[in-house]
Amino acid sequence: MTKQKTIKNSLIFTGIGQHKGTLNTIELFPAEVDTGIIFEIKGKKYQLNLNNVFGETGYTCIGEKDGVNVKTIEHLVSSLHGLGIDNLLIKTNSEEIPIQDGSALPLLKEIEEKAGFFIQNASKKAIKILKKIEYSDEKGTVSIEPSDKGLLTLDVEINYSGIKPIGIEHEVIDLTEENYKSKICMARTFARMSDVEYLHSKGLCLGATLKSGIAVDEEKIINPEGLREPNEFVFHKILDAIGDLYVMGHSIIGFYKNSRGGHFHNNQLVRKVMSDKSNYEIVELQFMLIMGIDPGLRHTGWGIVDFSNNQFQHIANGTLNISEKGTLPERLAEIHKKLTEVLEQYKPEEVSVEEVFVNVNPASTLKLGQARGVAILTPSLLNIPVFEYSANLIKKSVVGVGHASKEQVQMMVGVLLNKPKIDSEHSGDALAMAICHAHNRKKW
Ligand SMILES: [Zn+2]
Repeated sequence: MTKQKTIKNSLIFTGIGQHKGTLNTIELFPAEVDTGIIFEIKGKKYQLNLNNVFGETGYTCIGEKDGVNVKTIEHLVSSLHGLGIDNLLIKTNSEEIPIQDGSALPLLKEIEEKAGFFIQNASKKAIKILKKIEYSDEKGTVSIEPSDKGLLTLDVEINYSGIKPIGIEHEVIDLTEENYKSKICMARTFARMSDVEYLHSKGLCLGATLKSGIAVDEEKIINPEGLREPNEFVFHKILDAIGDLYVMGHSIIGFYKNSRGGHFHNNQLVRKVMSDKSNYEIVELQFMLIMGIDPGLRHTGWGIVDFSNNQFQHIANGTLNISEKGTLPERLAEIHKKLTEVLEQYKPEEVSVEEVFVNVNPASTLKLGQARGVAILTPSLLNIPVFEYSANLIKKSVVGVGHASKEQVQMMVGVLLNKPKIDSEHSGDALAMAICHAHNRKKW
């Protein structure tokens, strides 16, 4: 996503804290363009940046070291970075952020299902790494270097060769919203059972149980359910790094490498990068959001792609189901209302609609034409330019041949957009229209 993003509705999230084992509450609120991530702790505001964040053994805090602060922010911050949320206000009076199940999955689900996203009309800013920077000590090495491949790529290796159930794991992954949701956010934190028992005996880490992470001994995984994925341990280190690096204040364009490093190493690396302004520059990402609309009186499909730097990225798609009981004027009004909501949420730059084709049944051609009128009118009322393409050109642009079948079009849409979840055939067709416009717009 190359535009700034916040959430649509506020959200209350509660859960047990890792340290005291008591209930904690945080509230998330949408925030204006260019405000960044702000924590409001007991009425005092702290921006997510290097000056306000400090590490303690085993967790990260924001606020003042000997004053107002909130502990264990790392997995929350990781999910904000992973979801590409640029602007957010987080209010809390609690001492800790809920530990959840040791991963970022529960909060991510709540944000997706209850808060929703809101795309803001400003280009996203990113920190572009200009030089290779490294931090190393006897425990591990972390580094970040320039990359011309999208945003952040992470290459992480863990080596617990003394602990059989963990062992050595290595993964390389690009930080995209899709990868974060499908592969990274589910990975739980882990610890040795003997360490947890020791901490419990000292009255520490009281919220750490088999429900808030993975416990291992020298021979086996203690949790009866086992692992969620074979490489869950290294994916948790990736999740942690994504949170630790977001302390730079923006998304990052760079290649990050970690061999056996932890939160401390990441924090030192961020400090080293930010200490010299010639190490990085802040850039604005290019964007071109194109929305395709497949109009219909019963189902209107829509799909949005980002076509910047000559690359396609799927942003969203959906189907507006129009109530079949309404009269024609009511149904047209319903299409208009629902389409306006989607346009206002995603703010595409341009819209693409298929040209009308006359089929054998004049009555159904006319009905389709009326729905199509609404699909053209609605973006026009919001001053968004609308372009029209023939069915043959759409097929040709997506599949390569003008007489391609419907199935071939749907399949190629999946391939071109890296297999997104497509809501219906209508939204698949809408995505095809958006792709067609991206291929053809340069001629305009
Ligand atoms: Zn963690």
